Amino acid sequence: MKVINPSTGEVLADVAVSGAKDVELAIKSARAAFDSGPWSKISLAERKNYLQKIAHGLLDKAQALAELETLNTGKPIKESIFMDIPSAAKTFEYFADHLEEYLAEEKITIPAGAESRLLRQPHGVVVLIVPWNYPLLIASWKLAQALAAGNTVILKPSSLTPLTALELGKIIQEAGLPIGAVNIVNASGEAVGEQLCADKRVDMISFTGSSEVGKKILSYSSKYVKKTIMELGGKSAGIVLADADLELAVNGSLCSIFLNQGQMCTAMSRILVAKEVYDDFIKDFTAKAQRIKLGKGMDYEAQMGPLISDGQRKQVLKFVESAKKEGAKILCGGKIPSDAQLKDGFFFEPTVLADVPVDAEIFQQEVFGPVVCVNKFSGVEEAMALANSSDFALANVIWTKDAAAGAKMAERVNSGVSWVNTYGMFYNEVPFGGFKQSGFGKELGREGFLEYTRLKNIIVDKTEGAKPLVNYWYGF
Ligand code: NAD
Repeated sequence: MKVINPSTGEVLADVAVSGAKDVELAIKSARAAFDSGPWSKISLAERKNYLQKIAHGLLDKAQALAELETLNTGKPIKESIFMDIPSAAKTFEYFADHLEEYLAEEKITIPAGAESRLLRQPHGVVVLIVPWNYPLLIASWKLAQALAAGNTVILKPSSLTPLTALELGKIIQEAGLPIGAVNIVNASGEAVGEQLCADKRVDMISFTGSSEVGKKILSYSSKYVKKTIMELGGKSAGIVLADADLELAVNGSLCSIFLNQGQMCTAMSRILVAKEVYDDFIKDFTAKAQRIKLGKGMDYEAQMGPLISDGQRKQVLKFVESAKKEGAKILCGGKIPSDAQLKDGFFFEPTVLADVPVDAEIFQQEVFGPVVCVNKFSGVEEAMALANSSDFALANVIWTKDAAAGAKMAERVNSGVSWVNTYGMFYNEVPFGGFKQSGFGKELGREGFLEYTRLKNIIVDKTEGAKPLVNYWYGF
């Protein structure tokens, strides 16, 4: 398949497509490496060592990987250099350092005279399906956790962005992981998704992507009742309270929607501003949004690159057109830039919409592009009702000078993660994941890691002569 550079529209690479036979081979190989092969038999110390080697491999090739990620996704090179690649390496390091602690056996003494041992065992073969917005980073989150927990894996990158996953495959080979521990299939989800997710020999599916595809995967996996985790879409709300530090709130809110061209699951695509500060906020926010420098991903000065594809851009444009029809006012952007240098890429201007009716499609649906609705609220209760009115429940931000009150308010927001006076901080130490149609299950942290394990309970009778009532119910 042809892989396109979204900054130029040119073909960047040709990649071999996996067909049904390759998927079958991947499943067989992952199964064998888990059931009888080396991966499930190696010690925790060896597992840790392999993960560390992968982290080093990523860091050794960091510059080349950052360039490849930017060529393939269009994201500004600074983002790839400072965020995506080092964060991917850190995740492997983190789970290498913590796997022994997180997998430690737990003993529970039961007063009735028994002892229970709780073991964290791997599920077996785990299919990892990842999106195109953070191709290497999300693949690394999933791989690091699944492998650290002792599973074998089949990774399916997005067909739009397979290149860094293939490089990661090489790094894994160089690290010397046993055959079958990691398998990568390259194909569209429609072509291989059902085969991968419905197969009886696959034990778990870890999916990050749209809610629409998540629902399909749930239906495929229901045939054999598999463990799934679903990291899906969002329509997150940033809330600017009347007492917010406005400079911080404006700058932070710009990041919260325009980083990665707004193609973030946690994008604050609705910004709710207290009526007392709305005029000041919107003036500064719009002025700064207009100054964001669009450029090709490899341009070191670029602050925003192109969208991932022409199809994605058409989708974003359609949302903006329908928002206009529904009464939204465009304060800036809303169109394809006219700059001749950008004409071949899939660029779209940073777009700020005001006066958006709360029942408008754009206020309810995920756009996945650089488009934000900025609405006014009167009082905290209205802010809360608006924030919680979405079918999604992934993330939110509260901007306030009273961080303690903000954190208290965050308890009432229906979202898996709330940030107070910051945006988009992901840490390996803490779990991330949404509620409602944003999915279920966690990624990262102890809880995220434990998703990749199953809890086995062994109960041993400790009563003298093993004579609790149940053994002798029919005792003669
Ligand atoms: P997508 O759902 O179109 O695709 C995601 C992956 O699923 C790709 O690898 C794709 O090939 C595969 N896929 C497509 N159809 C499939 C099928 N029928 N069976 C199996 N796999 C299939 O999503 P996308 O456009 O790549 O990414 C954008 C979406 O991802 C947004 O909705 C965004 O919010 C979401 N996302 C969520 C998180 C999170 O952590 N919650 C993080 C990043 C992105």
